Amino acid sequence: MKMDDCIFCRIANGTIPSKTLYEDESFRVILDVNPATKGHALILPKEHAADLYELPDEAAKDVLVLAKKMAKTMRDRLGCDGLNLVQNNGEAAGQTVPHFHMHLIPRYAGDGQTLGWEPREAASEELEEIRRKMTE
Ligand code: AMP
Ligand code: ZN
Repeated sequence: MKMDDCIFCRIANGTIPSKTLYEDESFRVILDVNPATKGHALILPKEHAADLYELPDEAAKDVLVLAKKMAKTMRDRLGCDGLNLVQNNGEAAGQTVPHFHMHLIPRYAGDGQTLGWEPREAASEELEEIRRKMTE
């Protein structure tokens, strides 16, 4: 399904122009217009899926293979020192565009960016409760 009112459908399928780094029949990789660092890119599937929950298994497999290929090109051509893969699902997790996308964020020593979370203490009861909910 391609959605006319979805901005990433329109970018992925070429109706809205973008700085494209890679394209094949299933994906387009574009530069993020508000990059966290130089080279911050987004992998967009051409078929609409709102998020990871909706993403077909085939696309889910292919997206990581493509991320690896793009990561190597970023390392070799941009000279980044590291790379973060980020993929947000739902407003609570920071998703602002409801079309699945994977962020590729090249990292440079001392780039001043902070991606991450505050680690907290967790009682072993909490860990056990989660393990039980997820597995029983
Ligand atoms: P997220 O918060 O994970 O949904 O990420 C959405 C990302 O899309 C943000 O990093 C935005 O800067 C980026 N973005 C939004 N609109 C565009 C656009 N037209 N072209 C390129 N990147 C965009
Ligand atoms: Zn879409």
